[in-house]
Order: sequence, then structure tokens, then C-alpha cells
Amino acid sequence: KLAKLPYVKQLDEFDFEFQPSANKRKINELRTLGFLERSENVIFLGPPGVGKTHLAVGLAVEALKNGYTAYFLSAHELIAMIRENLSTGKIHRKIKALSKPGLLIIDEVGYAAMDDDIAHVFFQIISNRYEKGSIILTSNKSYGSWGEVFGNQVVATAILDRLLHHSTTINIKGDSYRIKEKKKAGFYN
Ligand code: ADP
Ligand code: MG
Repeated sequence: KLAKLPYVKQLDEFDFEFQPSANKRKINELRTLGFLERSENVIFLGPPGVGKTHLAVGLAVEALKNGYTAYFLSAHELIAMIRENLSTGKIHRKIKALSKPGLLIIDEVGYAAMDDDIAHVFFQIISNRYEKGSIILTSNKSYGSWGEVFGNQVVATAILDRLLHHSTTINIKGDSYRIKEKKKAGFYN
């Protein structure tokens, strides 16, 4: 059903005691998939290793189990795809294809900066899905920095306006689970 997940993890495998700001109550609410029914968005913010991709994948797995279509790609892959198709006439078809799945996941927004052309296509993708299909997005950058991410404050504001109108933000503040695992294995002391 279109998945292309980077790895498969269940929500049940997530340790909420280790990461209290991941907000178990909100995740359990999202898990009922009402947000998909209402075409609402979910944004996971936070530094590396705090579980953003895990939770996005976990929700995608629930969506797939319940018969939704879901498509996962990293912002890096999305930018490469846009770059590849921008000069040819194919970009419109690609944008249209991204409006089809019930759930679109865009992972790791914020690591790669976007030039104006790419930011505009990104805006079109968000805009096409607005009130029609859900997006789960993860980012290491707080909303205040999205002007820099998209290289353009006007476009960033327009993207945030649509993305956040019907949405849940989960702001994860805590330690990296990867480093916890390394500590356990004795890498750090
Ligand atoms: P990021 O926030 O950088 O996307 P990930 O979600 O990829 O981080 O998490 C990094 C690794 O740690 C993954 O293997 C993920 O399954 C695991 N992980 C992160 N947080 C937790 C947690 N609270 N409980 C269990 N596993 C976790
Ligand atoms: Mg990640």
C-alpha cells in the first residue's frame, strides 16, 4: 500500500517513560486515527534520536492496518525528486501523485535547506493536501526557524498556515534514545 518506511516500529514498542514529553495521551488519541478521518496533520518536533520517526512510522503502521494508504519519504528524497522533475514537465504529475495517499509522511524537514523553487513546490504539495489528506511531518527545527529552512519567510508562513490549521504538534524535549542505548552498552563511561 505504498509504504517505503525506513524501518518498521510499532507504537507499542515506544517507551513513554523514557520520553515523557512525547505525550502518551496525545499519541493514544492519534492512534484512534480520527486525525486521518478528518484530514488533520501531525507534526513531531525535536532534536535527533528522541523518537520522531519511530512515532511517525508507528502511526503509519496503524493507518496501513486499518486500510489507509500511506506514503513515506524523507525531505531529502522529496527535494531530490523535485529537483529531478522541475525542469521537465513531470513535476505537476508528481505533485498530483503526492496528493493521493490517505497519509503522507515527510520525515526530517530542516536538515537540508531549500531554494525558492523547491520551497514553492513544497508549498504546492502542502496546499494540495489541505483539508483533503493528512500529513505527518517531522523536524528538528522549531517553527520559528522555518523561514531559514525554506529560505523564504513568506513561503514558510504560507506553509505553516495550512499545515497547522487542523493539526497536532508534539514537541519532544529530551535525551536521544540512541545515546541511551550506547550508554547502556558502555560507549560513554
Ligand atoms: P528521531 O527523533 O531522530 O527520528 P528515531 O525515532 O529514529 O529518532 O529514534 C531513534 C531510534 O531509537 C529508533 O530505533 C527508535 O525506534 C528508537 N527510539 C527512540 N525513542 C524511543 C523510545 N522512547 N522508546 C523506544 N525506542 C525508541
Ligand atoms: Mg528521524
